[in-house]
Amino acid sequence: MAELAFKEPEPKVIAGAKGDWELVIGLEVHAQVSSKSKLFSGASTEFGADPNTNVSLVDAAMPGMLPVLNEFCVEQAVRTGLGLKATINRYSRFDRKNYFYPDLPQGYQISQLYHPIVGEGEILVDMAPGIARRVRVERIHLEQDAGKSIHDLDPALSYVDLNRTGVALMEIVSRPDIRGPEEAAEYVRKLRQILRYLGTCDGNMQEGSLRADVNVSVCPPGAYEKYQETGDFSHLGTRCEIKNMNSMRFIQQAIDFEAKRQIAILEDGGTVTQETRLYDPNRGETRSMRSKEEAHDYRYFPDPDLLPLEIEQSWIDGIRAGLPELPDAKKARFVNDFGMTEYDAGVLTAEVASADYFESVARGRDGKQAANWVINELFGRLNREGHTITDSPINPDQLGGLIDLIASGDISGKIAKDVFEILWTEGGDPSKIVESRGLKQVTDTGAIEKVVDEVIAANPDKVAQAQAKPAMAGWFVGQVMKASGGKANPKAVNQIVQAKLNLT
Ligand code: ADP
Ligand code: MG
Repeated sequence: MAELAFKEPEPKVIAGAKGDWELVIGLEVHAQVSSKSKLFSGASTEFGADPNTNVSLVDAAMPGMLPVLNEFCVEQAVRTGLGLKATINRYSRFDRKNYFYPDLPQGYQISQLYHPIVGEGEILVDMAPGIARRVRVERIHLEQDAGKSIHDLDPALSYVDLNRTGVALMEIVSRPDIRGPEEAAEYVRKLRQILRYLGTCDGNMQEGSLRADVNVSVCPPGAYEKYQETGDFSHLGTRCEIKNMNSMRFIQQAIDFEAKRQIAILEDGGTVTQETRLYDPNRGETRSMRSKEEAHDYRYFPDPDLLPLEIEQSWIDGIRAGLPELPDAKKARFVNDFGMTEYDAGVLTAEVASADYFESVARGRDGKQAANWVINELFGRLNREGHTITDSPINPDQLGGLIDLIASGDISGKIAKDVFEILWTEGGDPSKIVESRGLKQVTDTGAIEKVVDEVIAANPDKVAQAQAKPAMAGWFVGQVMKASGGKANPKAVNQIVQAKLNLT
């Protein structure tokens, strides 16, 4: 399926005191693999378990314990790579990243610095219909998560919970191709959507399943283009890294703050120091956490407990064959097959469950009308009442049945909204509801004529007005519809009103 046509957006320009500046942003996203057990041990990954109950001897780094690679996690990384149109590296290797921290009992994290499992890919970041940014993904590597230090349980003591220790993460590293705070948030949204489609990460940001380190620098206009032509990073400004962001809104706020901070330093004749910073949402500002460490500080070396990972092309091909239809393809198909707008297609494909719901409503029916009912009536109501599509009180068969009644002329659009209300609150079968409550549209022209005659007789002044100004006929249609309790067929009413007023 062809990709929808799009143009790249303009980069965000920030006016400083002395001139214009542009933003350059690269993201390192940590996505927790949806796996029941950890990357190198059989311990459970269940969220919210009592502290230190999901810890194997391997996770606790007891002497002599050996890591055993979890094949399922490797498969999810490959699946993710294929979903991002990336090269899969058939040879990869695990390295030890050495550092001391109380929540890291091994004294090192097992990661993949030199030979990651996934190479170059891309993510199309949708900004508006027809406008998207193609952001290159540099690599994805597998690594272990660390545990959690808890400082707020006791005034004098800190605690350590090792449940998260050793949980599999995919670190997805972008190129610095993101050019504004909104683009950064949309990048995370799109990546999250793809991961959820693939089922490789649940994307739950509150639970920390998806978190982003945001690298930000500023440069004068034109500098980024020079970097793109040459690949030479020295054209770009010095970056700061804002750690562990788990909200799209905070990502935008942190970048805004950070850009202004860096511009003020540079315009003042200073230099930006490369460092790791933390965003404080209460104060709306970033503050320094530590100066940037270099790879050599970690003394990376190949983990002697793990063999290099070599995977068969046939295994990769098998995973590729099992990939689901992904958001871009589904959106393009909805636009092409159902004639809907790109905007509507974007809404319907935001979650697989919504897209599936829509498709079962649309099967054998008018796609535009199905889209209209699903987006405007159903999603509107679900949002207002805090439901999601998976716990929708109205199922696709019921909504489809309702649309059939409109298409067959049994009910008007207005009555359909009443039936929708009944379906929502009481459930049931739409055609039985219409039958038992006498909601069937009146198409009997004799009955309609009678009401039209009554309204005309009661309103001679309006008749004169309508004959002078034909648009006034709508008033009569309204009155007749009201008198029929909304059950008269509006098309028939309109024809009869026109005829009786001698407007045709
Ligand atoms: P490190 O290994 O030190 O974290 P990387 O080279 O892997 O550094 O880059 C980390 C992230 O920083 C990547 O997402 C990359 O795109 C981004 N990045 C690199 N240079 C810049 C820059 N000048 N401005 C903004 N982001 C950058
Ligand atoms: Mg990094």
